[in-house]
Amino acid sequence: MKKAKDIINNVNLTKLVVALAIVLTLIASVLVVSRYTHGGRILGPSECVTTVAVSSGDTLSGLLSAQGLNGKDTNAIVNVLKKDGGISTIRADKDKIEFIRPEENAPVSKIVVIPSPWHKVEVTCAEDGSWQCNSVDVERDTHGVYKSGEIADGDSFYLAGIRAGIPEGILIDVYDLLAFEMDFERDVRAGQKFSVLYEENFSNGKRIDTGRVLAVSFDALRGNVKMYRFKKADGAVGYYDEKGNGAIKSLKRTPINNAKITSSFSGKRKHPVLGYTRAHKGVDFRASTGTPIPAAGAGRVVARGYNSGHGNYVKVRHNGSYETLYAHMSKFAKGVGVGTVVKQGQTIGYVGSTGLSTGPHLHYEIIKDGKHVNPMTVKLPAINSLNAADKQKFLEYRQELDANIERLADNPKLFIQL
Ligand SMILES: [Zn+2]
Repeated sequence: MKKAKDIINNVNLTKLVVALAIVLTLIASVLVVSRYTHGGRILGPSECVTTVAVSSGDTLSGLLSAQGLNGKDTNAIVNVLKKDGGISTIRADKDKIEFIRPEENAPVSKIVVIPSPWHKVEVTCAEDGSWQCNSVDVERDTHGVYKSGEIADGDSFYLAGIRAGIPEGILIDVYDLLAFEMDFERDVRAGQKFSVLYEENFSNGKRIDTGRVLAVSFDALRGNVKMYRFKKADGAVGYYDEKGNGAIKSLKRTPINNAKITSSFSGKRKHPVLGYTRAHKGVDFRASTGTPIPAAGAGRVVARGYNSGHGNYVKVRHNGSYETLYAHMSKFAKGVGVGTVVKQGQTIGYVGSTGLSTGPHLHYEIIKDGKHVNPMTVKLPAINSLNAADKQKFLEYRQELDANIERLADNPKLFIQL
């Protein structure tokens, strides 16, 4: 019996030694492998990845030859990237390139150009030494995330939004939207509530970036402002109010977001430079020299020049009967001249203090049927309205979205799977 027990014990001992040996081998191999991570990250047992962020002055061929690729391979890769991958130039501070070697110090066998977190272009060396290119779209998982907040005493909408956890990029989009309906300088008061439903994009469970604003609500002085993003049957996307009216107006009341109004539209005022009373045919927004001035709406530039009052100015004619004028510019935007077609939001010039001006600001005028009107109060036409069928669909969609928003408001940890 004793002997049998000893045998059993010996067997156990042998098992223990074997197990120990396996563990030691594993530790050793991890140590060996980790030596190969020098300058890159491990993918396979010894595959080595070197990631290069493109900086200014970098060229594709320069980066390829820096990784040891010869002239022939460099040319072949540059060509196949252009022909099959649609990549002819690389962008500093935007693109990343991965160089993959089967093992450390081996020649590069695969190059991955990453223009966005959602798109990759891979160039692989085939057995015959030729280079093959294919594009890969990274799968994205989109959540609808809800955030709400309240304006505190002495607060700006921006500060309250950041405090509510709304990402800055989303907040800027919300600003752009609400600027059609309200004046952030005058319409914001303590106690006003707001909420945003927006997209967050995930890849493999990791949050990568934010997407679009899906719905926004703000308790403005003139009543609750609500806007919803909606896709029409023809595929066009727009923002609509609760009733399905286009929320985007043909013109913006405040071309520069969040700029303080320093002088309002009036029939009469004492001119700060001339000293005598004369009408102020526009609104002044304080902004520092060089701030880009976006076109308030889509249209065509009908004047670009200088006069002693306006300094450097640009005038844009929009659809229908509207024109807008932007004065005191320090300089004009490149490529913007008489006849240029501009999009809403496109930079047409930069803030300055040219002409009759006491300091850097934008003087902005809206002219309707040849008459100056107050940009803050003029009723502006909506664009992108819905037909009867789209409106019916919109109202159903809005109801569903509102129900979801209510659910999310009760439990902010939830999200909508999109
Ligand atoms: Zn002015």
